Amino acid sequence: MTKRRKTKEIKVGGVKIGGESKISVQSMIKADPRDFEAIKNQIKALKAAGCEIARIAVPDIESVGAISKLKELAAIDKSYDIPLVADIHFNHKLAIESAHAGIDKIRINPGNVGNEDRVKAVADICREKRIPIRIGVNGGSLEAHILAKHERPTAEALAESAMHNIKLLEKFDFDDIIIAIKSSDVNTMVEANLIIAEMCDYPLHIGATEAGPAHMGTIKNAVGIGSLLQRGIGDTIRVSLSSDPVLEVLEGISILKALGFCEKSIDIISCPTCGRCRTEVIKLANELEDRLIPIERKLKENTKIKIAVMGCAVNGPGEAKEADFGIAGGDGEFLFFKKGEPAKKIPAVEALETLVEEAGKLVK
Ligand code: SF4
Repeated sequence: MTKRRKTKEIKVGGVKIGGESKISVQSMIKADPRDFEAIKNQIKALKAAGCEIARIAVPDIESVGAISKLKELAAIDKSYDIPLVADIHFNHKLAIESAHAGIDKIRINPGNVGNEDRVKAVADICREKRIPIRIGVNGGSLEAHILAKHERPTAEALAESAMHNIKLLEKFDFDDIIIAIKSSDVNTMVEANLIIAEMCDYPLHIGATEAGPAHMGTIKNAVGIGSLLQRGIGDTIRVSLSSDPVLEVLEGISILKALGFCEKSIDIISCPTCGRCRTEVIKLANELEDRLIPIERKLKENTKIKIAVMGCAVNGPGEAKEADFGIAGGDGEFLFFKKGEPAKKIPAVEALETLVEEAGKLVK
């Protein structure tokens, strides 16, 4: 496994980011912050899907009320208990009010709040309440002098803006910082994060922003997040999509899983099928994926399982040697094998249940 970049450890509620901590998955609440019912339902769904930190837009003072109500709810019902990040643009008073309301992290760019007295006021309340600040830089947030110098939001301009904002906070003795540099252009996002990773030791929140609808957005994020994580860079991720936030979480977890960063996982090794296939591998692999989700959640930490679904018995067990167990299809029946060794023959109609049952034994 790639050696991860050394960073400061920052605590967001009960979740640690950076240092030795695992890479966390975040998403954003997309419901109107003034519609409490919608917000609480979305938080519950995000948490159930495996989201570890949720960001909430705070466009006005009314929205701050939702933070206190969510915190009260989380205290009595753990299914709503998730660290919350207030997403604030320009208005430092909303940051201060969110801090008083019990927020766990604030996303604000000090360079955009006006004069330094306002930056100091935000830094002071966050220091007092031990609330970290995420500096969120993107092409639209660049300071005028940085944009004038670079002419457009290049990777260098984005990294320079992040450093500018870091220095504004450090000037007021504040270093409980997480950096997010995002771009809808994957290459720019990766390049900017490589630059900032060399310039500071703050943890990095990574992901492509405005990445598009689910399919292409997921690909952009997987490529961008994946190439940074493979270099050991990145401490928390968000797959931003024009889609349901629950999907953002599921895709984020899948990216971590593909790179071996999940502490517990069930990986399906299924063949693409070819002319030798005499059984419904594609349907079976997809049904199995859905059935394994609840089992995967119940796995003990540091348990990684591979299950194979192969289209023919000629190449199947050999091609899936890495699997803990699996099936290889014949005509109307499957060969069930463990660690590459044949165990028994099962009728094709029993294949799905046999695999689910075998996986279920892992969580008993
Ligand atoms: Fe084709 Fe068999 Fe390989 Fe599947 S396992 S791709 S059916 S050869």
